[in-house]
Amino acid sequence: MASYYNNETIVYLNGEFINATEAKIDLYSQSLHYGYSVFEGIRSYKTVNGKTKIFKEVEHYDRLKRSAEALNMPYHWTSQELIDATYEILKRNNLQDAYIRPVVYAPANMKFDTNEKSFIVIEAWLMQPFLGEKLLRVMTSSFQRPNPKGFKIHAKAAGHYVNSLLASQEAKAQGFDEALLLDINDYVAEAPGANFFYEKDGELFTPALGNILPGITRATILELCAEMNIRVEEKLFAVEELKKADAAFFCGTGAEVIGFESLDNYKFPLNWNESVSRKIQIAYKKLVVEDCSETQRHEDTKKHREVPV
Ligand code: PMP
Repeated sequence: MASYYNNETIVYLNGEFINATEAKIDLYSQSLHYGYSVFEGIRSYKTVNGKTKIFKEVEHYDRLKRSAEALNMPYHWTSQELIDATYEILKRNNLQDAYIRPVVYAPANMKFDTNEKSFIVIEAWLMQPFLGEKLLRVMTSSFQRPNPKGFKIHAKAAGHYVNSLLASQEAKAQGFDEALLLDINDYVAEAPGANFFYEKDGELFTPALGNILPGITRATILELCAEMNIRVEEKLFAVEELKKADAAFFCGTGAEVIGFESLDNYKFPLNWNESVSRKIQIAYKKLVVEDCSETQRHEDTKKHREVPV
């Protein structure tokens, strides 16, 4: 088991910086009993010039707010105050390459009604390789992603992740590295904790929004494709289509861009190092460690060009 904290670790809990071992949450919270909380998965990087940068920090904290609102959870924080608190957490824990986990959770309430307040905790720990670097052997899961008519699927809600755990555990029990889940209509959706792209004849394809978490990495890749003149299409497709694909990858904050070796033992024919997907992987890895001024320059050119996303 990875170690996420020790006696020295500081967390941000409802406006205070306190020792992780002293932090308490209510055992009668709806979050613990019903999976009723929302969270983010954010990464910070040591940039090429040695600075600490939280990647896409505004996008992540804005999504946290949207997730809370989607679940009717009161939310009174600004993204900026939480970003400031996160930089402080990194500093106090002496972290640069970190995984950051804010969670908005509910007070004690065993009923199903809405609450008058929410709480927040921000934790950070040293980033460990998530899915690793090697190409993945993936299986199509027997579990579907949650029904968007049963859940607010665009929200990053804790309860949705029981589905993720089941799918990932099933894949690993069968000797695969990870699962690919379909949606309720049997179209390809996403991984338990990442979005999906495939490559065919130098073009990229990714599931359209609707049945997936709108990933910040996915959006970043769409931007990179525009900058790099790589054609990319968002559409619905069946898993059979993948058995004719050249290459495929998962993408997410934790996983970054990680290529497939195979899906259901179908080996992707293109050499990963010669794929367009690999070019995206390299561009993404470069982007995350660029200094903010450099990233800002990209943003400015983008605004100038009005590249559609
Ligand atoms: N789908 C799911 C189910 C996820 O948990 C994640 C990780 N947050 C993603 C996609 C990728 O999202 P992002 O790029 O914003 O990390």
